Amino acid sequence: MSQDTTGSTATAAASTAHNGQAPHVEALENLLHENRKFAPSADFAANSVTSADAYGEAEADRPAFWAKQARELLTWDKDFTEALDWSNPPFAKWFVGGEVNAAYNALDRHVENGLGDRVAIYFEGEPGDTRTYTYAQLTEEVKKAANAFESLGVAKGDRVAVYLPMIPEAVITLLACARIGAVHSVVFGGFSADALRSRIEDAEAKLVVTADGTYRRGKPSALKPAVDEALSKPGHTVQNVVVVKRNGEDVNWVEGRDLWWSDTVDKASNEHTAVGHDSEHPLFILYTSGTTGKPKGILHTTGGYLTQGAYTHKAVFDLHPETDVYWCTADVGWVTGHSYVTYAPLINGATQVMYEGTPDSPHQGRWWEIVEKYKVSILYTAPTAIRTFMKWGRDIPDKYDLSSIRVLGSVGESINPEAWMWYRDVIGGNAGKNGEKKDNPAPIVDTWWQTETGAQMIAPLPGVTATKPGSAQVPLPGIAVDVVDENGQSVANGEGGYLVVREPWPSMLRGIWGDPERFKDTYWSRFEAMYFAGDGAKKDEDGDVWLLGRVDDVMNVSGHRLSTTEIESALVSHPSVAEAAVVGAADETTGQAVVAFVILRGDAVNNGDETVLALRNHVGKEIGPIAKPKQLLIVPELPKTRSGKIVRRLLKDIAEGRDTGDATTLADPGIMTQIAESLRK
Ligand code: ATP
Ligand code: MG
Repeated sequence: MSQDTTGSTATAAASTAHNGQAPHVEALENLLHENRKFAPSADFAANSVTSADAYGEAEADRPAFWAKQARELLTWDKDFTEALDWSNPPFAKWFVGGEVNAAYNALDRHVENGLGDRVAIYFEGEPGDTRTYTYAQLTEEVKKAANAFESLGVAKGDRVAVYLPMIPEAVITLLACARIGAVHSVVFGGFSADALRSRIEDAEAKLVVTADGTYRRGKPSALKPAVDEALSKPGHTVQNVVVVKRNGEDVNWVEGRDLWWSDTVDKASNEHTAVGHDSEHPLFILYTSGTTGKPKGILHTTGGYLTQGAYTHKAVFDLHPETDVYWCTADVGWVTGHSYVTYAPLINGATQVMYEGTPDSPHQGRWWEIVEKYKVSILYTAPTAIRTFMKWGRDIPDKYDLSSIRVLGSVGESINPEAWMWYRDVIGGNAGKNGEKKDNPAPIVDTWWQTETGAQMIAPLPGVTATKPGSAQVPLPGIAVDVVDENGQSVANGEGGYLVVREPWPSMLRGIWGDPERFKDTYWSRFEAMYFAGDGAKKDEDGDVWLLGRVDDVMNVSGHRLSTTEIESALVSHPSVAEAAVVGAADETTGQAVVAFVILRGDAVNNGDETVLALRNHVGKEIGPIAKPKQLLIVPELPKTRSGKIVRRLLKDIAEGRDTGDATTLADPGIMTQIAESLRK
């Protein structure tokens, strides 16, 4: 096994200032350099489901490559006649004329193929209750739900709003909608009645599926009251509300409108024949996380979305469905919970774990207990969770046997190299609860994608790519990602710029619900004939892609365009730091100045000014003087969305001494007061 652990070095790249005559307008400085590389073990490579040939094959004929995946991974009721129709950009049609049923592909066909007894879902409730669904059982539940929804008048094309916790009924509901051709619109269970109302109205939903409530940190947490409030004023289109009994708390009941799941779905017939829907039939609407502003209702359709989801799930996680136990920790309220919990794993016939609650309930080892119990072999989570575990300390996961893990995934934000190394060592390297270490820790796949892209776009292939801590690295086979300058020209290796997609891809969004103009303006107007994602990125010396954060968050310090991610990563590389967020604050002399907010690790001592100075100097040493934070504040928490992403615009308000703006999309709106208070001390 070739493994290079020479460590990360830094250069004062800030000294490579522009001379005004450079052929490229450099959009972002390239500050942080990473030399560590981890090639797959010979064993892993030999058993991996994909090989490097996939890149060349896709390059030779991209639509043909995807057509092949579509026919291999899905069972079509009617074959398509054309892989891609791109005659009316940016409105793509994939697998034209084909007909396919998502639920049939996720369920019935596995049962028909003799896999009915394979476990589809191991459900673990927060209070410790468990349920297991085989493919045969899950198929039956989905058929019943499809019959129940149809009996309530839900027909093909109608919209269904889903406001459920992370319980099997969420997956059952989505698949039942897909089965009958109804369009689901999931609203994250943590969102308010207002957010729910506006999404119900935007989609003109006919049915709402919800639960009495769920459990959060050991306590019942209600959902139904928000639905009641959202529907309290007339003017909406909802006819019925189906309610799953989950936590048994009292609920208000609107006769004629509200129905228990147990009285409708459970009593419905378990016979239901799935018919194919057009490949471009709308599958779902989902609103983005709202990290940068007002959420957009992203529309996805059927054939292309399912194909790219299933392909990437298989290739990027090296899925062996007969033996793997897969666990994606994302809530069904986010796109990851759609693509990589509901659709792709079931299409691929995988066995997966689903967990309802928080990582610290009833104790901070809960996730690792679950990994040990179900022998999870593929774990897919977010950097925010990894950094939280770093903050809590490695002695917690070290107490469990995590030796079953063989692939680790990351999504949602850049994973700082230090968090990546921790993930590799502590989780991927664990060979038993007595501190044993694996010779070959599990490979990490950092996956870049968005609600809009529907499926993973940039990620290593674990049996092929030598991985680098902190980089998503290479566009997947069949995906044409590039980094360009202000003028839309590709940047050279070693330079930073804007992340774009140059060619249509199967799971691309088909629009913003009800607003085709906003679709064009938001994604297709910045660069001609390219999709612009809103993220900054760089290509390193090998041409690998590094995500540098939102371009809206880029700082301009004395004419240098600095990304948030690299400075944050430099801070996280200090042994005392668990998490960091960096913003640019208006500054009289330099235009903007770097202001850093830092959370210390559980075992780190805060020596006040001394610690602050040490951390500022650490950034200076790792990256260069230009990136050294002018101000550095140690805080107990950071403002994050419900999906765990840091909301930098609110920190910028604090740094510039303003009242903070709209904090309603935060997981905990009280955080802003906490931060302000800790700063006053
Ligand atoms: P909004 O678009 O409403 O501001 P959002 O962008 O947070 O919300 P999502 O679609 O959930 O909504 O997130 C996609 C974004 O998450 C990407 O544009 C990128 O900024 C970030 N992201 C996702 N995966 C990665 C990754 N592996 N590395 C770096 N950034 C990532
Ligand atoms: Mg976005």
